[in-house]
Amino acid sequence: MAHLWRGVIREYMDRLDIKSDNPIITLGEGGTPLVQAPALAKLVGAEAAWLKFEGMNPTGSFKDRGMTMAVSKAVGHGAQAVICASTGNTSASAAAYAAAAGIQSVVLVPKGKISLGKLSQAVAHKAQILQVKGNFDDCLRLARELSENYAVHLVNSVNPDRIEGQKTGAFEVVDALGYAPDLHVLPVGNAGNYSAYFKGYQEDLEAGRIYKIPQMWGYQAEGSAPFTVGHPVAKPETIATAIRIGNPASWDLAQNAREVSGGRFGAVTDAEILWMHRFLSQEVGVFVEPSSATGAAGLFKASKAGEVAAGSKIVVTVTGHGLKDPMWALKDERGKEIKPTSVSAKAAEVAERLGLSKSS
Ligand SMILES: *Cc1c(COP(=O)(O)O)cnc(C)c1O
Repeated sequence: MAHLWRGVIREYMDRLDIKSDNPIITLGEGGTPLVQAPALAKLVGAEAAWLKFEGMNPTGSFKDRGMTMAVSKAVGHGAQAVICASTGNTSASAAAYAAAAGIQSVVLVPKGKISLGKLSQAVAHKAQILQVKGNFDDCLRLARELSENYAVHLVNSVNPDRIEGQKTGAFEVVDALGYAPDLHVLPVGNAGNYSAYFKGYQEDLEAGRIYKIPQMWGYQAEGSAPFTVGHPVAKPETIATAIRIGNPASWDLAQNAREVSGGRFGAVTDAEILWMHRFLSQEVGVFVEPSSATGAAGLFKASKAGEVAAGSKIVVTVTGHGLKDPMWALKDERGKEIKPTSVSAKAAEVAERLGLSKSS
């Protein structure tokens, strides 16, 4: 029977905080693949592992789940413009949904710290883009101040509509598996997504769809790990730009989620992130941006310390698409550029280059 996925608001209307007569601005987000990852399960000694492949959303990251809610509600309130601070993916998403809604978007990005792919998306969707001399945390403070004093609606994850929309990721995992995994692992920046998945699982538990909440495991980059050091970090540094956040907006929500789920926060080095980035594309077949490999990198680190129970069923959210920031795939382990070999258009020469033997 024909069925078109209708986006997360229509698919989960009865479980979301939105009125039935609110306008719905959607690009068909959600319904992303839960990809079986036997190579990852084997690597970490688990019974089964899946990747929730959020790069398959309309703008290439999970941000679309929250943005459909935030922009729909903004339009419902009569907003003519939305504003956000962004390390890249939030601005790409805000710009696309504002375009779909026919309203203006304003994005504040830290100067020089946003990937070309993400910047091009914001430009393509005709956002007003301002590069701020400062880091993400400065951009967010500025966006909050502007939205409090001027006619522009804030769509960062400090807006609870974002977390509300993003909790549908957990609903989809439960719908796909029929149960909750033992562990749910993901990268953490502002911790909005970490908190959102917990909220989704908690609601599924209350509704009797599952009988336990997975342990929520959140991983940050070592140079940008406020949750493991226990306080905000003034100058966060990591190549994983989407999680280069020193002062997480959802601090309290995330601490509660960790505590109630019996989960953990941890940190991995940039080298461990890039190793896992390569493993996921080469051994699993899923291409993600470096930040998105942080959760799986943390899981691998924990497994090496003997902290992953043998029978575990694990879901790892990979947050954004590899094409967002493709330059990382074009470097080898030592950071050397990878270039394709040039050959003439002659079968014999190509076969020789490839080391092919003659078929019999
Ligand atoms: C936004 C983002 C994150 C971090 O999510 P938070 O909700 O800020 O913790 C991780 N990875 C990617 C690709 C992102 O775009």
